[in-house]
Amino acid sequence: MHERVVVDCDILIIGGGSAGTMAGILAAESGLETVMVDVARMERSGDIGAGNDHVAAYLNQSGEWDTHEAFLGWYHRLSQYLIDENVIDKTNVSLVPEMVKRLEDLGVPLRDQKTGKYIRTAAFDQPEGYWINFHGTHMKPMMVKHSKRVGAKHYHRVMICDLLRSDSKVIGAVGFGVRDGKYYVFRAKSTILCGGPIQRMWKNPTPYMFNTWHGPYCGAAAYYMGIVAGSEFQNVEIATNNVVPKKFNTPGYNALFGMGAKLVNALGERFVHKYHPRGEKGPKWAVAWSIYQEKTAGRGPCYVDARHLSEEAMEHLTKNLLPVDKLTYMDYLEQIGVDLRKDLLEVNLSEMALTGVTGDPAGMLMDERCWTGVEGLYTAGTCAVPAYAMMGALTTGICAGREVAKEVLSKKESLMEPSESQIKAAEEEIFAPLKRDKGIPWQEFELKRQDTMSRYVGIGRNEQGMRQGLADLNAMDKMLDKIKVNNLHELMHANEARHLLEASRLVTHSALERKESRFGHGHWRGDYPETKREWQGALIVKKIGSNYEFRFRKALVPEGGQEYIDQCATQVKW
Ligand SMILES: Cc1cc2nc3c(=O)[nH]c(=O)nc-3n(C[C@H](O)[C@H](O)[C@H](O)COP(=O)(O)OP(=O)(O)OC[C@H]3O[C@@H](n4cnc5c(N)ncnc54)[C@H](O)[C@@H]3O)c2cc1C
Repeated sequence: MHERVVVDCDILIIGGGSAGTMAGILAAESGLETVMVDVARMERSGDIGAGNDHVAAYLNQSGEWDTHEAFLGWYHRLSQYLIDENVIDKTNVSLVPEMVKRLEDLGVPLRDQKTGKYIRTAAFDQPEGYWINFHGTHMKPMMVKHSKRVGAKHYHRVMICDLLRSDSKVIGAVGFGVRDGKYYVFRAKSTILCGGPIQRMWKNPTPYMFNTWHGPYCGAAAYYMGIVAGSEFQNVEIATNNVVPKKFNTPGYNALFGMGAKLVNALGERFVHKYHPRGEKGPKWAVAWSIYQEKTAGRGPCYVDARHLSEEAMEHLTKNLLPVDKLTYMDYLEQIGVDLRKDLLEVNLSEMALTGVTGDPAGMLMDERCWTGVEGLYTAGTCAVPAYAMMGALTTGICAGREVAKEVLSKKESLMEPSESQIKAAEEEIFAPLKRDKGIPWQEFELKRQDTMSRYVGIGRNEQGMRQGLADLNAMDKMLDKIKVNNLHELMHANEARHLLEASRLVTHSALERKESRFGHGHWRGDYPETKREWQGALIVKKIGSNYEFRFRKALVPEGGQEYIDQCATQVKW
């Protein structure tokens, strides 16, 4: 038995990143008892913890492209219409003006300090510059402090591992203090899952497990809890990856291509236009796919070429963007001796991931109120879909916080008492790796699982390989029961291992089910290499018992949309 801390609240928010903090602000503003829990210290946790440099928005300032309607059109098109337009609108796009206002009211400097105007650039197939360039280094502590001011209670450094349920209704969650070792039991009327992206499902291209493109600290807790609670997921077979500097797995893509940098292969030729008409300004998957294709055809390595940028553009890129997106970006360039004014920068592909980045159609299914379909359970941010990057995380956070508060206020229910047997069973499972006398280290398990996913469910998939992958993942259940850890930090990784295994299976089952290729190597099947119209839609999966049940929602493609998708059809060019 561990010291038990019981916390009661109206609304429980799991994960205090971009989405969770916004949800916390909105929920607490309603006057309800709001609790935010994060495995790290929230002031600097999650993907905006150290700062971001771009936020996507329309501002109704610069013509037709700068409107709600155009932004919605872009957003929907980029997902190849695989996600529901109404949900995109209600949970993301219609809340963009409120997001901008809230950030500015908090003092986040979205405008250029000298001119008082917004600096805006375009990438990711945007018609014009939706990306506001800004200095976001301190936005996270500003938001977290504000959530406290409006009344949210914070539990830092508590890892949530499982949900509590009464029949199928979610009534709270349990976890442990990664520093104090206490067992935390949260009882809540409604719960919002904001656990962030899955970045460690596949191996990253460096020798270091945590050197990932987006934050490595999220594991797959939100996916795991959603799967066990019976939530549906959509398109989780479609992964994304990024274009990153060699050996330095970092964002910065948007800064480089937004400012007009180009890609060239080893022959000095530009190539991205061969794969997508918008070239480096096209969808991210197409840019990544083009690099993969060039390298496979023997024309790699590939390089970013920014030498043609004006001095003013270069100043902006190297002072206001790259080091804000990644604090150590310029140190890295200095150490490898690259001056972007004179030199090419070799780039590579990052690991595959489920990140909720711009254009990503994969994640937990939710409706226009961020409800998962499971009573008492909502979701927001990159574990859900739609939630494109920071804008998507912040707006879905606003939506979830507001909608959950409305529901709790209108229902006037009392808290439900979870059964003691359920609380004890979860406690046993969570702490088990700490109690074993002998066993295997968590790293051994994780490397094997990552290797299985990368080998059989990574870039280039087929039925036989994925069946082998699934068999290997299933065999790992026994191995999971052998993980032995020596301290609380390792215990966190052991629980992440359990979460990641369940999420890996979900992805593999879905990848077997979608019998086509789409989004470049996001889902590239050697046995079904074409992009097929009959697969144009959302593949929705739910785990029931040990079975995976699928349904398919055909995409509603607007006029002109089919041409766009046909342009994106996966073709092998070498
Ligand atoms: C370095 C970097 C730069 C980026 N730059 C940009 C940019 O310029 N523009 C842009 O639009 N996007 C950018 N992105 C992406 C964007 O920041 C993310 O899409 C967005 O912030 C994700 O928000 P989220 O709330 O979904 O996830 P996160 O912010 O990752 O939050 C998830 C939170 O959940 C917590 N958590 C996870 N598991 C548990 C658990 N079991 N128990 C308790 N807590 C848990 C984590 O600690 C974390 O705080 C960038 C990302 C990174 C990493």
